[in-house]
Amino acid sequence: MESYQYIFGPVPSRRLGASLGISPLIEKTCICRCVYCQLGSTIHWRTDRSETVPLEGILSELDDYLSREDAHFDVASIVGEGEPTLYSRLGELIHEVKKRCEQPVCVITNGILLSDPQVRSELMEADIVMPSLDAYNAELFEKIKRPDPSIDFSKVVEGLIAFSHEYKGQLWMETMLVGGINDSKEDIAELKKILQKIQHQKLYINVPLRPPAEGWVKPPTDEALAYAAQELSGVVIDAFGTSGFYSAMEDDWEAVLSIIARHPMNNFELSAFLKSRNSRREDEIVERLAQDDRVEKVDFRGMKMYRLTKSWAEMAEEDKEKQV
Ligand code: SF4
Repeated sequence: MESYQYIFGPVPSRRLGASLGISPLIEKTCICRCVYCQLGSTIHWRTDRSETVPLEGILSELDDYLSREDAHFDVASIVGEGEPTLYSRLGELIHEVKKRCEQPVCVITNGILLSDPQVRSELMEADIVMPSLDAYNAELFEKIKRPDPSIDFSKVVEGLIAFSHEYKGQLWMETMLVGGINDSKEDIAELKKILQKIQHQKLYINVPLRPPAEGWVKPPTDEALAYAAQELSGVVIDAFGTSGFYSAMEDDWEAVLSIIARHPMNNFELSAFLKSRNSRREDEIVERLAQDDRVEKVDFRGMKMYRLTKSWAEMAEEDKEKQV
């Protein structure tokens, strides 16, 4: 198989090691439009669940990837271009991935649909579930996550608490701290009150490391981060890995596209990734990224970051048409 639509990476993750991404969404689809989202603007903003892509297609790609001699990863992560709990066959997907992989299966979610008992039940078979909690009241929730107007923050918290009591796997919470928005001592005290009601094994404290959806978003100060980590007993994720990206795709350009559609890369990561493939096309690819207006280039924290503004499959298709 030349290229994959639903499988990407593995990408390096400080929390998960080499994470093989499985995306049941091919364009940014989410309940929220978080101010810090590294995927940029939400294209499909919705709350209804559907079979966005055929389950059989995902599994066929996974089987193909797993048959490769160079298939190495630490965790299979169901994540991708948006919110995976919107995928109506999520429970089946988790089950089928677990049947095929010895590695743990992780679902990374905004946690909003945990208010739905059906979603909670579908997640039970996952080894690790990583929901986020960035706000402690409806006003802050609206400010940071900008969810669909039908979402009731109190129901989201009730869902998280209920899930944490029902679920037998590893529940790792994630909190994104945004400077001046939810990182004061008062904010941390309020977040702590809710986190204490959610039975979790780990808490990761994230900061915006990659270009956020809104340019005004900034990371908290080192002091605020240290305080939050201590108060919430959390692990701070505030550094990049500069190696460890991988793609099963043979073509270097397509491989880069498939990654930056789901995971923005900085110039150092791009260079390390191409070197790891013994590619001689770095200059050409950097030039092509610079010229292609479908690729967003953002100067962020002293680095150039590349992010795709379309689904990569759509882009690869356009490129093929140009070559005909
Ligand atoms: S950060 Fe997650 S929950 Fe927020 S808009 Fe992006 S994909 Fe959706």
